[in-house]
Amino acid sequence: MSDKRFEVTILTHFCKGCGLCVEFCPEGKLYIEQKPDMRGIQAAAVRADVDCTGCLQCATICPDAAIEIVRVEAPVST
Ligand code: SF4
Ligand code: SF4
Repeated sequence: MSDKRFEVTILTHFCKGCGLCVEFCPEGKLYIEQKPDMRGIQAAAVRADVDCTGCLQCATICPDAAIEIVRVEAPVST
């Protein structure tokens, strides 16, 4: 197992709920909320129980730059 971990954040105020990121994520990390937000949009959301590999396909395909992927450094063992 890799020690690289990635944190996925949906910038929901930019998301229009098109679902492209959900379709393109090979890991199934993303889904569309069932409940519309205050704008009436069913935004993308992140599954906590699925690992992100940092492939960036979701962030690349998102037409609204609404996804941030950040690499989380593994703790240094002493
Ligand atoms: S970076 Fe890749 S694995 Fe991670 S959520 Fe996006 S598409 Fe899925
Ligand atoms: S591709 Fe972007 S705009 Fe479309 S659902 Fe995903 S985060 Fe939202």
